Amino acid sequence: EHRKALVITLAALPPQVALPDGHKVPFANLDYAATAPVARAAAEAVEALLPWYGSVHRGAGALSQKTSLEYERARQTIGDFLGCRPGDEVVFTRNTTDAMNLLAHALPPDTLTVTFLGEHHAGLLPWPSVHRLPIPASPESAVASLAEALRAIRARDGAARPVLVAVTAASNVTGEVWPIADLVEQAHRCGARLAVDAAQLAPHRPVDLSSWDADYVAISGHKLYAPFGAGVLAGRADWLDQAPPYLAGGGATRSVDAGAETVTWTDGPARHEAGTPNVFGAVALGAVCAALASSDRADWQDHEARLSARLERRLVGIPGVAVLRSFPAGSDRVGIVSFAVSGEDSGDLATWLSVEHGIGVREGLFCAHPFSRHLLSEAGRRTGRPMPATALRASIGAGTTADDIDRLVAALADRVGTAR
Ligand code: PMP
Repeated sequence: EHRKALVITLAALPPQVALPDGHKVPFANLDYAATAPVARAAAEAVEALLPWYGSVHRGAGALSQKTSLEYERARQTIGDFLGCRPGDEVVFTRNTTDAMNLLAHALPPDTLTVTFLGEHHAGLLPWPSVHRLPIPASPESAVASLAEALRAIRARDGAARPVLVAVTAASNVTGEVWPIADLVEQAHRCGARLAVDAAQLAPHRPVDLSSWDADYVAISGHKLYAPFGAGVLAGRADWLDQAPPYLAGGGATRSVDAGAETVTWTDGPARHEAGTPNVFGAVALGAVCAALASSDRADWQDHEARLSARLERRLVGIPGVAVLRSFPAGSDRVGIVSFAVSGEDSGDLATWLSVEHGIGVREGLFCAHPFSRHLLSEAGRRTGRPMPATALRASIGAGTTADDIDRLVAALADRVGTAR
């Protein structure tokens, strides 16, 4: 019987590392939210293209033809994976940051962007004109606060002003999943468009522009088991086709006159993809999307949910550990858990975990400074204990084992007290 893959297969497992006592252990990578290891499907797709190494859209030779075909095929596969509708555009970018900046660049003049202070900096900072809403305490209050803000904006600015709402689908700090379809409904009710930052959702859950009815989505290949340097902005074509090219240069032009005074730009994705593109990145990302689309994602989601629940339950059981969250306990989340240990410097702890225990977690404010600081101060208030200035984040993915989680928890419990 055909059994679909439980998880995507990785091209390589983390190496063995020597601990200070000479003992060797497999490195426990609990930092999937920063970047995910490369999938075998991605590596194989790149390997298969090696003999055909050629530049996209630049030559009539067989190598260039094949490369161009695979590049465009990847675009199609990725578009399908993201739930694109007919007429949607799929533009290759470097990553989610680049995709959000492209969208900011493509906004019609005078567009107001509405976002929440809990966003990753990639969704918080690129907008020329922005209204930032406070960090919501629940998915329902996010929807209510957006609805109220949009009504006030319409009353103040009239119906004609273009408005874009930019929200994350899953937080890179708390893993909390946002109610995208409900937010889209509010946005559309007020004539606004909505862009989804799916950088963290895509590795864990299906991304579906079409069922969300959202207008744009951004992803990063390197968080989705493809290599660095390939991301996507997908969504409605009109603003993108009307905007000046994101980069001026070859590939984005239809024609340039003799004095280079009059330039006609192409439309379609090429308009924003000037310069020789990252073919390997695009093809690898396409291969991962195809592999994920044919895997049993519901099965994987259950598996991850069990690992994630184990991680959170055990962390909460360690005295002095505060798990950071902004939505009520039990809210839907992907496999990302940020926490802080009262009385411990998070940077020191992260270094100690790596050097002494061969465990990799992320330390810092996770490119979401307002949100992370807010969560740390809330955690201090909730627990009545002083919190460090930065946090730790453990995040899981396709290669994570229960042993990785247990090692992290055992090390922390050993250092700060006995697990209850
Ligand atoms: N949005 C979210 C929610 C993220 O987690 C990240 C990466 N930390 C980004 C955007 C930016 O992604 P990239 O660094 O690949 O541009």
